[in-house]
Amino acid sequence: TGPPPAENAGILGRLLGRQQGGTVVKRTLDDDMLEQLEELLIAADLGVDTALRVTANMAEGRFGKKLSTQEIKELLAQEVARIMEPVAKPLPLYAKKPQVVLVVGVNGSGKTTTIGKLASQFRAAGKKVVIAAGDTFRAAAVEQLQVWGDRAGVPVLTAPEGSDPASLAFDAMTRAQADGADLLLIDTAGRLQNRADLMEELAKIVRVIKKKDPDAPHNTLLVLDATTGQNAISQVETFQKLSDVSGLVMTKLDGTAKGGILVSLADRFGLPIHAIGVGEQIDDLAPFDPEDFAAALTG
Ligand code: GDP
Repeated sequence: TGPPPAENAGILGRLLGRQQGGTVVKRTLDDDMLEQLEELLIAADLGVDTALRVTANMAEGRFGKKLSTQEIKELLAQEVARIMEPVAKPLPLYAKKPQVVLVVGVNGSGKTTTIGKLASQFRAAGKKVVIAAGDTFRAAAVEQLQVWGDRAGVPVLTAPEGSDPASLAFDAMTRAQADGADLLLIDTAGRLQNRADLMEELAKIVRVIKKKDPDAPHNTLLVLDATTGQNAISQVETFQKLSDVSGLVMTKLDGTAKGGILVSLADRFGLPIHAIGVGEQIDDLAPFDPEDFAAALTG
């Protein structure tokens, strides 16, 4: 019974407690230890399948060996990083102008904020960006997007409340092409209450932008709130049915111990994680770094 674990002690901090000053405590990697690890990984949102796979890999060739806290920590971090490395990919940029990025996700996931942050980043990198406020049914989202657009110095195309998002997307394509924009970021509705409607709405947006460029959209980014834990799994499944998800942005990874869901998502879907949201400010969007992530998660 050591000291109560700190909020951000990471997975192993909770299992092994803090290292006693100077002394290296070794524990046997036995069934009991592996079971405790599994439970902690599941509690940390890795999901049962991923947790079992990670512990099995940890035990391979090492079962029954005595390992120090540090060794177990490194082993776990290594296994997590191995799952995460293949999905750590920034948003690919194409020579094609405009590159059309459709942004999907449930309301509250951080879509608007992420579009603002992306616009600002690309603008800072010298790209010409246009935003389309495609969630025409949510006046607040449109307003919010305009605020972000002003901050980022990027034009935001809007349409009257309740008007057809596909028509706005078409106009935005026309404008982006006329302006020679590098990127067009299209916000979309996130009402999952009526999936058939949402599916039709997304499909129609895709249909009309294809009239302007058969290869568009070049990316469909799904924005997920990392604090929703296992719920993120069903959101990926839902949006894969509604659209052609090509990559993820995980938001709200600041100050949460729930990042384990990323491991579960990576293991299950293998979709690239293009960026992570680490705060509410315009610069709080970071590339996903698997090693840093694994080290932070394991503690
Ligand atoms: P939308 O409904 O999907 O467009 O979501 P919003 O972009 O409006 O974001 C919902 C809330 O989450 C807002 O209060 C944002 O400030 C907040 N938010 C978005 N991304 C992050 C993030 O990375 N970290 C934190 N802490 N908050 C975020």
